[in-house]
Amino acid sequence: MSTPEQYDAIVIGSGEGGKYLAWHLASQGKKVANVEDKRIGGACPNIACLPSKNVIHSAKVASFFQRGKEFGIVHGKWHVDMAAVSARRERMVDGLREIHLANYAKSHAEIVMGFGRFIADKTIEVALNAGGTRTLCSDYIFLDTGSRATIDPIPGLAESAPLTHIEILELTTLPEHLLILGGGFIGLEFAQAMRRFGANVTIIERNPTLVHREDADVVELVQQLFHDEGIDTVSNANVTRVEGTSGKSVIVHLSDGARLEGSHLLAATGRIPNTQNMGLETVGIKTTPAGHFQVNDRLETTAPGVWAIGDCAGTPYFTHASYDDFRIVRDNLEGANRTITGRHMPSVTFLDPELAHVGLTENEAKKQGTAYRLGKIPMAAVLRTRTLDETRGFMKVLIAPDDRILGFTAIGPGTGELLPVIQLAMSADMPYTAVHNLILTHPTISEGFLSLFNSVPKKPA
Ligand SMILES: Cc1cc2nc3c(=O)[nH]c(=O)nc-3n(C[C@H](O)[C@H](O)[C@H](O)COP(=O)(O)OP(=O)(O)OC[C@H]3O[C@@H](n4cnc5c(N)ncnc54)[C@H](O)[C@@H]3O)c2cc1C
Repeated sequence: MSTPEQYDAIVIGSGEGGKYLAWHLASQGKKVANVEDKRIGGACPNIACLPSKNVIHSAKVASFFQRGKEFGIVHGKWHVDMAAVSARRERMVDGLREIHLANYAKSHAEIVMGFGRFIADKTIEVALNAGGTRTLCSDYIFLDTGSRATIDPIPGLAESAPLTHIEILELTTLPEHLLILGGGFIGLEFAQAMRRFGANVTIIERNPTLVHREDADVVELVQQLFHDEGIDTVSNANVTRVEGTSGKSVIVHLSDGARLEGSHLLAATGRIPNTQNMGLETVGIKTTPAGHFQVNDRLETTAPGVWAIGDCAGTPYFTHASYDDFRIVRDNLEGANRTITGRHMPSVTFLDPELAHVGLTENEAKKQGTAYRLGKIPMAAVLRTRTLDETRGFMKVLIAPDDRILGFTAIGPGTGELLPVIQLAMSADMPYTAVHNLILTHPTISEGFLSLFNSVPKKPA
């Protein structure tokens, strides 16, 4: 064992919550080590949210080229240069890395590149990427180890070397025919982007529909959208075997005898938490059946002085959720008693148009037996969408008997930006009329709140 080095705090993983905690504690003058085995800043800026949205935006530009005539722009021959698409993403990621390094330098949090695991209570051994080990000790240890793409145990799948969200972002040539295993939000976002660049795309989904947990109107619209863009979907698919190699030629066999042939295969069937090989048994840290660190509602693990935040703690798999975990742990360290219970967790699926959501869906309200009045309008009723020629979609809101907002869902251009107004009203327990009575700028997408709330049936007298 190398000589133990004492720290005020150790953070394992430099994902969203972990890095903010490291920067925060270090900027208070504490001696902090942030152990990271792969990418400084974790998944979001390097291989997940931000690079995928960067590539999705390039695909939006491609869609404008395809629709040029509609807008009165007549252009000559054009083509998609995937190497340049990838280079734009890389430039952004490089810039984000600089920002992260500057934050470590400014806060004086030390980044230690290597894999961390417990070897005793309050003691972490880091297998350094550069070779050798370091032994770090602290009374305060925070785990933010994130999650990674699942490769299902389907015969031939691992051998076919499928792309995950990491490799697909790095493609410098366009797949001729991309098969996507999984119709969750990651599969859908890449499906639409790759189709817009010009690839043939087939989504292979085990459930009866895409986005099967959403309300029926959302499912119908997303399926129509994908159909209109020329994306094939095979639903109720039970994959039995995969043959070939992604990047050359690959065949996916289904239990009904169907064979789906493509040039590339993207595995997007889910994610698993990074909680393995970390010496957890040494210190009594338990995991859940899904493999997350077991935490209470203050994000404390089953070992004293050890917290977990973000994906690895079973928090909803969003960057903003990991960030909120950081705030809860930070405040509790300073004497507060905050918990994760009752958080309204917003989400946006970055399709074009965006699918934005917070609070209850109709499915959930019905299942719980929660009474609600429904307001709903087509996006075409929001005049801004007419100026953009982006009229597809709708907004809907669930209103409680006492006029509080229970849930909001919108599919339309830029609808993710509408969420904070609704969240504010929900978190302050305001009646929906507080938003309805605002003077809303014309013509913006948020002006749609006027028509949306006009459509809410009046409270029974
Ligand atoms: C393609 C894609 C798109 C996404 N888009 C969005 C989006 O638009 N919006 C959104 O909110 N979310 C999005 N997500 C989800 C989001 O990226 C994750 O929820 C978020 O990054 C999780 O952050 P985290 O703090 O849990 O840790 P992570 O960012 O996963 O970081 C954990 C880090 O810990 C390191 N690590 C693990 N074990 C060890 C160890 N033992 N020792 C040292 N280091 C270790 C890992 O290498 C990793 O760098 C997307 C995900 C994917 C895959």
